[in-house]
Amino acid sequence: MAWDFSTDPEFQEQLDWVAEFCREEVEPLELVFPYAVRLRARDPKMAALVDPLQQQIKDRGLWALFLDKELGGPGFGQVKLALLNEILGRYSSAPSLFGCQAPDTGNMEILAAYGTPEQKERWLKPLMNQEIWSAYSMTEPAGGSDPNLFVTTAVRDGEEWVINGEKWYTSAGRHADIIFVMCTNGIFIVPRDTPGVEIMDQPRTHDHIIYNEVRVPLDHLLGPEDGAKVLAQRRLGGGRIHHAMRAIAQCRRAFDMMCERALSRQSHGKIIAEHQMVQEAVADSYAEINMLRLLVLWTAWTIDNSSTAEARTQIAACKYTAAKVLKEVSYRAIHIFGSLGVTDLTPLQAMWSGAPTMSVMDGVDEVHKVTVARNVLKGYEPHEGYWPTDYYPEMRARAREKFADAFAADPDLATYADLMAKRMAGRH
Ligand SMILES: Cc1cc2nc3c(=O)[nH]c(=O)nc-3n(C[C@H](O)[C@H](O)[C@H](O)COP(=O)(O)OP(=O)(O)OC[C@H]3O[C@@H](n4cnc5c(N)ncnc54)[C@H](O)[C@@H]3O)c2cc1C
Repeated sequence: MAWDFSTDPEFQEQLDWVAEFCREEVEPLELVFPYAVRLRARDPKMAALVDPLQQQIKDRGLWALFLDKELGGPGFGQVKLALLNEILGRYSSAPSLFGCQAPDTGNMEILAAYGTPEQKERWLKPLMNQEIWSAYSMTEPAGGSDPNLFVTTAVRDGEEWVINGEKWYTSAGRHADIIFVMCTNGIFIVPRDTPGVEIMDQPRTHDHIIYNEVRVPLDHLLGPEDGAKVLAQRRLGGGRIHHAMRAIAQCRRAFDMMCERALSRQSHGKIIAEHQMVQEAVADSYAEINMLRLLVLWTAWTIDNSSTAEARTQIAACKYTAAKVLKEVSYRAIHIFGSLGVTDLTPLQAMWSGAPTMSVMDGVDEVHKVTVARNVLKGYEPHEGYWPTDYYPEMRARAREKFADAFAADPDLATYADLMAKRMAGRH
């Protein structure tokens, strides 16, 4: 009997340390210097603030915590990572302070898994040390949900690949040192300052990039030629579950805020937490957050005990459920906050607007729902004839066969069963 929801005490100590560290160090830093980690490399003042904190994180073995041991990380596995992300996800700068920020994490993961020793030396180490930053260029303006629509290509010309195409919504593209560009025939690592990489003015955070006759040496192909889809799946599968883990933290923050506020305001003669509709908001949110959390932890456990590919259906379910629970809980929290909730003076508005973002990024919810439905339905067969398997008259007929010998031995028992059958039939 191996069901166990407890955290081992040694790891709980790590979690407690992370929670306190985030509360005492990470939150003040991000409130006053929101871009400190990104600016660290160029600004000694920011480095003086960030480096001692990152050293503490490294000293506790918590750096790059998403990577397996053989890929250069601490090798926590997904369950421990989920428990850590439930804390880190509360603070927007915590992932970068802990060396596990998107989109670099996914890029490091495929670099670690598919890179040659030279590629790892050249790009993985500096990425892990935050000496350089990366972006991932996959989505194209014609449509992101269907990779069959992507047309960006790399054509070999002597000792170089020549990339032509247009990408849309490459997060942090303009700030990246290297961009992982998904072409129809493979994923290529393109230094951002390569001639022909043209970054449009808008949008600002997630970039529209034209790749115009961009030339890179042959060794900039990552993994096998034609391996783009396999690498992309590996990259995005991991990313989705990490986002879901962090979404739990956001939901909990909204929930904590909702509960505190509900106990702090009065209306119509009582504190608002005593009004039943406020209680319903608290009760529904409590149940939904815990349902999401169990789904995510079960998925993380499945990955640890099999693989990301094996857990594909579960990961897809986590992806759209996280967005849905975040939407519901943050909306209720905003509502309980009344007018204050609809200002941007609390984190609630950002959480709520994070829900539609979660629904779209890493593949739109609809596509993941299709994955879940298709995979789940593979485990079923159509019934024969008109009636479903759970059709009472036929279920009873089948059940009577089990008692055939007993009825033959005791006719009274058969009569009693007939009587019961008549009584049940009368009910339909
Ligand atoms: C915050 C954020 C960060 C991102 N970062 C990156 C990044 O770093 N790199 C990158 O390459 N991309 C990135 N993306 C892009 C993301 O991958 C795409 O937005 C996503 O794949 C959807 O593509 P699309 O926006 O073109 O929407 P479309 O594909 O046009 O879909 C629009 C709508 O059409 C409907 N739809 C589409 N397909 C189906 C279907 N099969 N069944 C039913 N309905 C369907 C849905 O309602 C869907 O919402 C990011 C997106 C966001 C929001």
